[in-house]
Amino acid sequence: MPTTFRGTSMTSITSKKTVSGPADDIVAAVENVLGAAREDFVPLHAPLFRGREKDYVLDCIETGWVSSVGAYVDRFEKDLADYLGVKRAVAVVNGTAALHLCLIVCGVKSGDEVLCPALTFVATANAISYTEAVPHFCDVSDKNMGLCPEKLAAHLEHIAEIRDGVCINKQTGRVIRAVVPMHCYGHPVDMDSLCRVAAQYHIAVIEDAAESLGSLYNGKHTGHMGRCAAISFNGNKIITTGGGGAVVTNDEALADMVKHLSTTAKVSKDGFFMHDRVGYNYRMPNINAALGCAQLEALPEYIAAKRKLAQRYADAFADMDGVSLFHEEAHTQSNYWLCAIRFEDPARMAAALDALNAAGLMSRPLWELMHTLPMYGDCPRADVSVAQDMAQRILALPSSVCLV
Ligand SMILES: *Cc1c(COP(=O)(O)O)cnc(C)c1O
Repeated sequence: MPTTFRGTSMTSITSKKTVSGPADDIVAAVENVLGAAREDFVPLHAPLFRGREKDYVLDCIETGWVSSVGAYVDRFEKDLADYLGVKRAVAVVNGTAALHLCLIVCGVKSGDEVLCPALTFVATANAISYTEAVPHFCDVSDKNMGLCPEKLAAHLEHIAEIRDGVCINKQTGRVIRAVVPMHCYGHPVDMDSLCRVAAQYHIAVIEDAAESLGSLYNGKHTGHMGRCAAISFNGNKIITTGGGGAVVTNDEALADMVKHLSTTAKVSKDGFFMHDRVGYNYRMPNINAALGCAQLEALPEYIAAKRKLAQRYADAFADMDGVSLFHEEAHTQSNYWLCAIRFEDPARMAAALDALNAAGLMSRPLWELMHTLPMYGDCPRADVSVAQDMAQRILALPSSVCLV
């Protein structure tokens, strides 16, 4: 087991708890799903390497092609694009860098505003800040934990207007340039409605698909319903390249620009190189892409395993009052990156969180909401009452592929 999971901030992890407590039923249900053979500590999400990872990584080492160019980078980009049915994929160092590049190529500039959910991992808001734009936090839907198009439309109706073809926030005077929906735990956002609202307000849609590789919305993969999308291959995601990310898009010119910016904006000159703008060193190294090629081969199997695990959790909680699996919506197929349960009673969630972790079953609430973080407290925001409510009711459960 990787040491990163042993070194978590959890202080209360011990072996099995024996005294009876208020959340014993929850612990028992999870133990029932995982089976008697579980280890003393079950992490939230561990990576799994049982395919050709070693062969491909060894190939990099033996040939010397470990760094920022190499055949595995090209192959990983092609395999990823083919898998998603998207024209182009550009592999980069992590998902945050992928988001940063998406924002730049969609024209987000210093002083703009970018809409994103209050309920997300901090990378979404951080990437917006890297462009010197201001995150503007919006509410989520309780059906999928992702940005709510209806609430967004109502908010924009109130605060925004179109001037000279761009959307202006009347309260701050700033341009609202883009919106970044995030497919939380793999559950797709209602993209048709969201794209309609964005089009009406001339706002670019950039998907934060970091968690949703392989999830479907009306039969289409997440990641190509906006202008471009960011995917993460961090160690805790459904597949991993160690650290890594990708920008995916159907727009060839946008993909070319992402590639250019990720490789220090390098152009040939007299047989050597020059650089035609401030670029970034964001390319994914070949050795990471090698890992990624092997992981992509396993992805369909991993998704099937996750969906099976979600079904087991759903069954385990089916007869329990006041708690249920957070389920995919009818027109979607979630990759169930993290299986989550929803509680009617926030106090019961808090008790379950303590009890699960005390029993060595790693569990985690949703993130601290973005507007409550010190650096984002002054950012503009809509009513985010649903996000606030959900943050007190949802727990992620151990979701590793190896648990199936
Ligand atoms: C993981 C994640 C990212 C960032 O990915 P890194 O590869 O860790 O930089 C961005 N957004 C969301 C929602 C994520 O879960």
